[in-house]
Amino acid sequence: MARYTEAVCKLCRREGEKLFLKGSRCMSNKCAFEKKSYIPGQHGKSRRFKMSDYGVQLREKQKLRRIYGVLEKQFRIYYKNAAMMKGITGDNLLMLLESRLDNVVYRLGMATSRNAARQLVLHRHFTVNGRIVDISSYRVKPGDVIQVREKSRKKEIFHASVRKVKEGKLLPWFELDKARLSGKFLDMPKREDIPVNINENLIVELYSK
Ligand code: SF4
Repeated sequence: MARYTEAVCKLCRREGEKLFLKGSRCMSNKCAFEKKSYIPGQHGKSRRFKMSDYGVQLREKQKLRRIYGVLEKQFRIYYKNAAMMKGITGDNLLMLLESRLDNVVYRLGMATSRNAARQLVLHRHFTVNGRIVDISSYRVKPGDVIQVREKSRKKEIFHASVRKVKEGKLLPWFELDKARLSGKFLDMPKREDIPVNINENLIVELYSK
């Protein structure tokens, strides 16, 4: 499976904001963006220019792709599917990305970042409705139950991770049973509830050209 293998902190610097790709490190004073908030590269510090409309749309698309850790080709497929669905394309796109299994594991607090969640899914630590699923892009549907597989439930890492989920902080389309390391995807999220700083209309404009 193709994946991004460069230093991920560069992505935050490129997009000009923290994308929270490295779990707890993002909240610490080790965050690279806190130290160097300019564009990476030799002339990054001195790069000041006004972006074209196309540039702004392109950056927004790159930012969304990087937040969810999706490569270009796969992102285009998500967009195509979103455009074919009923409703608003931008909202559909975000809903499809939110229903990826790696994202669901992260949102449930069972991993500290989407990257970590992807690794854990690939290593067969999770079941969906009782069956092991090791595909990070697996589309979770309303009513699905996601659980750490029995063999892995003794691992302290999962318990420590869900303990950090504060009361009332779980997103409204989830239910979490911390003791059983199990979560339910109750419904498709509404755009206004999805906490990502993205203007998805710019991405729709980009792909509509
Ligand atoms: Fe981005 Fe996290 Fe790296 Fe900071 S530590 S630059 S938020 S990935």
